[in-house]
Amino acid sequence: MKITPPRAGLAGLAAAGLIFAGCGSDGDATSGDAVQVLAAFYPLAFVAEQVAGPDASVSNLTQPGVEAHDLELTGQQVGRIASADLIVYLEGFQPAVDTAVSQNADGAGLNVTEALTVLDADEEDADDDHADEDDGHGHGDLEGDPHVWLDPTNMAAIAQAVADRLAEISPEQAEAFQSRADALAQQLTDLDQEYSIRLADCERRVFVTSHAAFGYLAHRYDLEMVGMSGIDPEAEPSPARLVEVQRVVQDEGVTTIFYERLVNPAVAEALANDIGVQTAVLDPIEGLSDETTDEDYFSLMRANLDALEEANGCNSP
Ligand SMILES: [Zn+2]
Repeated sequence: MKITPPRAGLAGLAAAGLIFAGCGSDGDATSGDAVQVLAAFYPLAFVAEQVAGPDASVSNLTQPGVEAHDLELTGQQVGRIASADLIVYLEGFQPAVDTAVSQNADGAGLNVTEALTVLDADEEDADDDHADEDDGHGHGDLEGDPHVWLDPTNMAAIAQAVADRLAEISPEQAEAFQSRADALAQQLTDLDQEYSIRLADCERRVFVTSHAAFGYLAHRYDLEMVGMSGIDPEAEPSPARLVEVQRVVQDEGVTTIFYERLVNPAVAEALANDIGVQTAVLDPIEGLSDETTDEDYFSLMRANLDALEEANGCNSP
């Protein structure tokens, strides 16, 4: 299910942006002198905003409530990509963005996977029947799992890559970008340590999710993710896959089937009902929604940690 914001909503956001820019202490901020950064979707926008601070303006191409995997660009957005100083994106995750960057913004793109080690997608968990029917909105171009931001150490690497590029664009602010990237990296290290400590001693290490978004998190903290559908959240799991998942739940004593906010929870709820286990939210943090506009990457990651700790019977020291 894709939620398309109404036209009025977009116009409202644009107007709000103009008003906000006009309220700055320096009226010239709207003159086009400010460094313009576009981020392809929420976690990248979060990093870019933290590193940019007041020294660059950051916009997110994926509106809140829109499923990031399915992003389609308006002509206006393609125009903004062509004129931005820096576009932070994840090649292979949103093909429309890849195309727009390669055709309109060569040289201004920062593909964050170049700063990271990309893990293989867990093919065992992918629903192959549906993968073959990919209509081009998936992320088949990336040979691997795109959900890099769910490992906090990857976010720190992205922050450094953004700081380096912003420093090239605006050398006089280089120290400010670097010091903000360092501060963010410290917060991410703290988060990483909380995860390591609180997930060290658990009754179970298996968790079941609606789409296979948590491969990096599982890899980092020695958990095992079982995704009902593969890395594309739109693909519905096959009946055979649901039988396999049910067997894992029963064999491992899994207590909870996790679902996510931006995707219809019907399949997760039906399966949980059938087996007699509960459901809870595990947020892949691909975007914010109406329910999470007051949240950010850190608060959502900590809510995910609470949920995993509870579901897996972990004993905090
Ligand atoms: Zn995803």
